[in-house]
Amino acid sequence: PLVLGIETSCDETGVGIVRGHTLLANTIASSMHEHARFGGVVPEVASRAHLEAMTPVVEGALAEAGLTFSDIDAIAVTAGPGLAGALLVGVAAAKSYSLGLGVPLYGVNHLAAHVAVDQLEHGPLPKPCIAMLVSGGHSSLLLVPDVAQDVISLGSTVDDAAGEAFDKVARVLGLPFPGGPYIDRAAREGSATAIGFPRGKMDDGTLDFSFSGLKTAVARWVEAQESVHVPDVAASFQEAVVDVLTRKALQACKKYDVKDLLIGGGVAANSRLRALAQERCDKAGVRLRVPRPGLCTDNGAMVAALGSDLVAAGITPSALDIPADSSMPVTTVHV
Ligand code: ATP
Ligand code: MG
Ligand code: FE
Repeated sequence: PLVLGIETSCDETGVGIVRGHTLLANTIASSMHEHARFGGVVPEVASRAHLEAMTPVVEGALAEAGLTFSDIDAIAVTAGPGLAGALLVGVAAAKSYSLGLGVPLYGVNHLAAHVAVDQLEHGPLPKPCIAMLVSGGHSSLLLVPDVAQDVISLGSTVDDAAGEAFDKVARVLGLPFPGGPYIDRAAREGSATAIGFPRGKMDDGTLDFSFSGLKTAVARWVEAQESVHVPDVAASFQEAVVDVLTRKALQACKKYDVKDLLIGGGVAANSRLRALAQERCDKAGVRLRVPRPGLCTDNGAMVAALGSDLVAAGITPSALDIPADSSMPVTTVHV
């Protein structure tokens, strides 16, 4: 079946179309240029931009796939978590398409979709696998027996998300918002061992993370300097983040005796995280899967991918009165 997925949880209006795990279209409009000068996403501005972008992006995805509305067999949509008003636009649009086309609706979890998307590139997920979800709003280690129906949380950040730490440190360094990609780039010219920044909760025996102490340490360090070599700070900060992330991810694999690790979410686009994870997985005999960077950040294909799994698993479609749930827990795969 052909599944059209709609994503509007933050600033991206994303529409993807898949058949099974074959990606047919992935069209995105972003309102980030409207938020950048505020140093963060402005919810009301994002909602309005989704409203304006929705129809053109859906039509763009159909054109990209060479399909028409009558070819679509099911609609999937991010029902949470995310910005309430932004989610609402996608959910309302998805309900309308579902009703108008007479096809089933699947309300899905954005975080599970960040996991499911890898299948469009690397085929079916091993059951079970360990998934590390690192994004702008979340940092979690998950045991995933079956991404279509069962996601178990093993640990998560107790304060800032990894992406949030990247964005806040970027601001301290005078880099544009969102700062993750800029830190990634700056770090390539710097030394990861130049400054010894703290690794929060590194060996505390939990699978939780903490990044706010690191963020504060970087800010204090920068404040105390006469002049700052941005690449060294970026590289040293980034190393602290990816050192903890990869270490805990492999601890999770060991603890649950799982040999397949997946990394997803926007921070999974980070080049140093990808390299260090590969190095440590090779050493531990763990197979690593990371989607290409364009599938790590928010997009519609990830929603279509999870929707496709729900269809294949025979999951009952969502009712047409499902709400948008801005704080949907990571363990709720679909509603
Ligand atoms: P969530 O998925 O938790 O709802 P989100 O959807 O806003 O949050 P994503 O789009 O998945 O987040 O990820 C965005 C985050 O990823 C931002 O914090 C951004 O800085 C970070 N990011 C993107 N590319 C990189 C990179 N190369 N290195 C580090 N961080 C990155
Ligand atoms: Mg975004
Ligand atoms: Fe996301």
